[in-house]
Amino acid sequence: MTRKFPETKERIAVFAGSFNPFTLGHLSILRRGLTIFDKVIIMIGRNINKPDEAEEASARAALLSRTLADFGDRVEVRTCDGLVAPEAVRLGATALLRGVRSVADFEYERNMADVNREIAGIETVILTAEPAYGAISSSVVRELESYGYDISGFIPPQNK
Ligand code: ADP
Repeated sequence: MTRKFPETKERIAVFAGSFNPFTLGHLSILRRGLTIFDKVIIMIGRNINKPDEAEEASARAALLSRTLADFGDRVEVRTCDGLVAPEAVRLGATALLRGVRSVADFEYERNMADVNREIAGIETVILTAEPAYGAISSSVVRELESYGYDISGFIPPQNK
């Protein structure tokens, strides 16, 4: 599917993920995305079949909004119940924003980019991880936290 272009004057990207938690790696992608796009919408996926998880995602979105408040209206945090790509198009997004740390990430991201172009006609802008954050993943941070390790060095300062 190919979309007509340009559709909006403001260049908006949707940066979707579970962000559980939002890490310094995500922050790096967000900051660098803002050098390309006027606005970035962070979209936290939630599973409507698991009400508890949906509530948890909303709480996480509220917390993240406060953490990223300094970006003002250039960053918005939302949750998403369904497919991200059509929702991004509905919100007027120019592209999806994603990050890759490794070849393994790349294979997954390329596949997602192809699917999202096919179903919604939206392109994906993929930024490479900054070397300092290349080893940070939400799952590793979650695991460290579960063992009582202080994870403050991996997440943005206010994101407690
Ligand atoms: P998912 O639930 O799809 O794994 P995540 O919340 O883990 O989503 O991440 C969202 C996006 O951020 C993905 O494109 C992922 O590759 C990217 N990302 C995660 N951690 C980093 C990092 N340390 N550096 C760069 N990109 C990252």
